[in-house]
Amino acid sequence: MPIPDLYRLDELFTEEQRLIQRTVRDFVDEKILPGVRQWNRDAVFPVELIPEMAALGLLGATIQGWGCAGVDYVAYGLIAQELERGDSGFRSFVSVQNGLSMYPLLAFGSEEQKDRWLPPMARGEVVGCFALTEPDFGSDPGGLITQARRTAGGWVLNGVKRWSTNATIADLAVIWAKDEAGVIRGFLVEKGTPGMTAPEITGKLSLRVSVSSEVHLDDCHIPAENALPGAVGLKTALMCLNQARYSIAWGAVGAALACFEEAVEYAQTRIQFDRPIAGFQLVQAKLARMWTEITNARLLVLRLGQMMDQGKAHHAAVSMAKRYNVQTALETARTCRDLLGASGIVDDYHVFRHMANLESVYTYEGTHDIHTLILGQELTGLAAYA
Ligand SMILES: Cc1cc2nc3c(=O)[nH]c(=O)nc-3n(C[C@H](O)[C@H](O)[C@H](O)COP(=O)(O)OP(=O)(O)OC[C@H]3O[C@@H](n4cnc5c(N)ncnc54)[C@H](O)[C@@H]3O)c2cc1C
Repeated sequence: MPIPDLYRLDELFTEEQRLIQRTVRDFVDEKILPGVRQWNRDAVFPVELIPEMAALGLLGATIQGWGCAGVDYVAYGLIAQELERGDSGFRSFVSVQNGLSMYPLLAFGSEEQKDRWLPPMARGEVVGCFALTEPDFGSDPGGLITQARRTAGGWVLNGVKRWSTNATIADLAVIWAKDEAGVIRGFLVEKGTPGMTAPEITGKLSLRVSVSSEVHLDDCHIPAENALPGAVGLKTALMCLNQARYSIAWGAVGAALACFEEAVEYAQTRIQFDRPIAGFQLVQAKLARMWTEITNARLLVLRLGQMMDQGKAHHAAVSMAKRYNVQTALETARTCRDLLGASGIVDDYHVFRHMANLESVYTYEGTHDIHTLILGQELTGLAAYA
């Protein structure tokens, strides 16, 4: 049973936004939910669905031109929400393709780079990845040690990246490295370039329907035209992360809704002490709290989306939404798992998979605590990172 829309939030979306949401919802119902349990067991991302996501206009969704759909940020948020209702892995794929691969090209690439790469990326023929994190530099990316040294014809890259989503299956990697002056720059490295390998990280207990990789760069030579001309300084990498964090904040709502809908239905049908557990006050208290929190999360991202469309979204506002919504989703998933009792720990139900996924989402794209510190700095003017 769908959860009643108590605050009539659906009325705040345009007809076009609702149509996009329904389209993605149908895709998730028909193409993702039937297979997701097995993909999660096998730890595979079904690459065969990439062309279908591309055909729906989900790749580069907010970009105007180059064959992209050019939808507004609220519609893009609804896309992320519906995808993550299926599994965080699909929303991660789209966040990385859009915010971390196509956005850096759009914002910092040359016209030639945009014309060459954006159309096939929109068609899903070229998969992108973004490699900023290193084994010893996660929350502190400014310390990264991957080197970019100028050569006669271009650059040579050396270093190791870790936790790069999609890298093993990627055709194009956006690599962040320091030049001889210690300035962080973004580079494009094409699949098959000698010196680059991207082994998959195995043994994950979270985000299993998503490819996570290391990227090894050993004297990897790239031509001068593969440097992103505008990607100079850590700030430019952080601008990409801001794009991805926006979609994460919306996506978390989808994961929370999936868990909540499953738990409400379960509580109404699970009989203990001769009555549905939904009739117990302690259960209703949990449901009431989750419903309110999810409604809050939905309002937060809707307003954030409007500000994104107006070009007025401060990066701290994005941090606030990522932090609050992912925490809300994770707490919702844990409470829903509790409400399902022992049934909550098997994959006949979706809650445990979402709960495990959200542990990664809580950590990536700036951990929960790093977003706390971003907000603290914005409020007080004092940076408390170090
Ligand atoms: C599934 C997955 C996919 C990912 N995809 C990508 C990707 O595509 N590209 C990419 O570049 N990276 C990616 N990442 C990496 C991700 O962004 C990092 O994991 C994240 O930034 C945290 O870094 P870390 O794991 O090294 O943790 P650390 O930075 O080592 O943090 C460990 C703990 O210390 C805390 N901490 C750190 N510094 C402070 C501080 N100053 N004050 C208080 N507490 C602090 C953190 O909050 C955390 O609790 C991915 C990660 C995962 C799990």
